[in-house]
Order: sequence, then structure tokens, then C-alpha cells
Amino acid sequence: MEEGKKSLEDITTKVYYKGKFMTDEKLYYAFHTVVLQEIPTEISLAFTITRCPNKCKGCHWSDLNDGEVGEELTDEIFINTLKNQSPVYSCVLFFGGEWKPKRLKELLLICKNQFSVKTALFTGKDMWELNEDQLELCNLLDYIKVGRYDESLGGLSSEKTNQKLINLKTLEYMNHLLIDKMK
Ligand code: SF4
Repeated sequence: MEEGKKSLEDITTKVYYKGKFMTDEKLYYAFHTVVLQEIPTEISLAFTITRCPNKCKGCHWSDLNDGEVGEELTDEIFINTLKNQSPVYSCVLFFGGEWKPKRLKELLLICKNQFSVKTALFTGKDMWELNEDQLELCNLLDYIKVGRYDESLGGLSSEKTNQKLINLKTLEYMNHLLIDKMK
């Protein structure tokens, strides 16, 4: 075989692992925690994904987004965490990660196929800013928070926020539930 050309075996070994499609994309995370308020109708196991490229002014997590911060969120770490925390949570929440949509899709498929749990994404983008791959994630999500963080308007618990929390199954806005819960 000519040097530089990959064999079919090389390619299939890289693309398929245990019979599933694998992406080269990677996501990194700082920590996971169980949260009660972010999705008001669920107990959520939340993963804080690092290296967010959105650069919102006033971001509270800017120290997690500059440079090579965080540990790779591998299948093994993710599955073990979900197993260890079960059955405490009803929903797995990703704080970010949409910038690597193929990897996030793999993690969402694990949630749905192996744990039959609800899923949520908090993205700093508006719905109209999401590309095709990112929009496709909505098929595997029960909830999504959209909208760039604007420190003058506040986050989801602020009555004047630009951000929206949406139940993707009913297409209802949920902000009022969160504001009520914070009062
Ligand atoms: S989307 Fe969230 S984490 Fe990313 S820069 Fe904006 S506020 Fe920070």
C-alpha cells in the first residue's frame, strides 16, 4: 500500500468502536453536581463543561473557559458517574458543550439508550444561532436554555432576562416556574 494511504481497516477501526459511530470531538468538564433549581421540575445531575467559546461579557465561569481547563469527559467517566449517582437524579444537564455537537450527541445517546433519563442543555447561544448539528441535538433533549448571558439583564431567575428555558416536549417556556421558585 502507498505510504500515506489509510487501509480500510485503519479507517473502520477509528470510525467504529463497539459497533457505534465515534467522533474525534472531545469535551472537557470541571465537575459534576446535583442541582435542584436549574430545571425546576427535575432533580438534575449537571456537568459543567469547560472551554466555552461564547465569551459572554460578565461570564461567571470565565476561569473555566480560558486555556486547556478540565478533564476529558470520556464515555467511561460519564457512564460511571451516571451509575454512581443513580437513582438520585431524573435529568442529566449539560452546562455547555454544544460547540462539539457530535460529542454531545454521543453523550446524550448514552443518557437515552443506557439510562432512559431526561436531558437538558444550557447554551449561551440563541436558537437562531445554532447550526444544523446543534439543532439536531434538540431531538435528544427534553429541555434547553437558550440566550447569551447579558449581565445587565441577568440570568434565568431575573424577570427581565433575555434567556429562555424551554420544555422541548411541550414547547412551553418555563422561566416563570424558576422565578416563582426563587421567590
Ligand atoms: S455561554 Fe455561559 S459559560 Fe459560555 S461564556 Fe457565556 S456565560 Fe460563560
